[in-house]
Amino acid sequence: MVDVFLNQILNVRKLALNNEKTFQLNDSNCDWLKFLLSEIEQLPGSSQDPPQDTHKDSYLNIDIKIVKKDNSELLEHIFLEGSIDCFYKTSCIRCLNDMNDSFTIDFKACFIPKILEKNEIYADQLTIYANSEEMELYFYEEQIIDLKEFFHEQISLNINQFPLHSEECKGMCQVCGENLNEKICVHQQENCCTL
Ligand SMILES: [Zn+2]
Ligand SMILES: [Zn+2]
Repeated sequence: MVDVFLNQILNVRKLALNNEKTFQLNDSNCDWLKFLLSEIEQLPGSSQDPPQDTHKDSYLNIDIKIVKKDNSELLEHIFLEGSIDCFYKTSCIRCLNDMNDSFTIDFKACFIPKILEKNEIYADQLTIYANSEEMELYFYEEQIIDLKEFFHEQISLNINQFPLHSEECKGMCQVCGENLNEKICVHQQENCCTL
């Protein structure tokens, strides 16, 4: 079951051509996923630090299918396809109360050699039509794909930046910081002069 612990750096040279591999990664069998989850929960830490403790109910699962192909047009290229499923702890942007949020992201990407970036067909393109479908386009160099960076980007582009514990959240008073879901402070009353 060594495959379960897919390294954050994927070495393109080590992939056998046309040999599709599937992996099921999660934050308890994979340290770099645990790190990504701690980033999602915005716990302190930089990429040099060991993974931080995440909330006990939180999880990050990634199902991924990887296959390397080779042809005269795209040279050695790698398809990554799958989904990211996450449940995590965050706080409401209006009242700052703890809350849970979740997301599911389906991804489909094609990594082609960096040398093709000079080709005007691929330069400045975000997607590519390959394997009979449209998918995201990435370039790799020195035979390396940084999976952690790829997933970090997928997550930051898709995560809810404005979590609300409820659509009706009344937020906090700008003057005294009172949580207005619990109590209406003097500043929020109609005849208050400070607003
Ligand atoms: Zn709230
Ligand atoms: Zn107030």
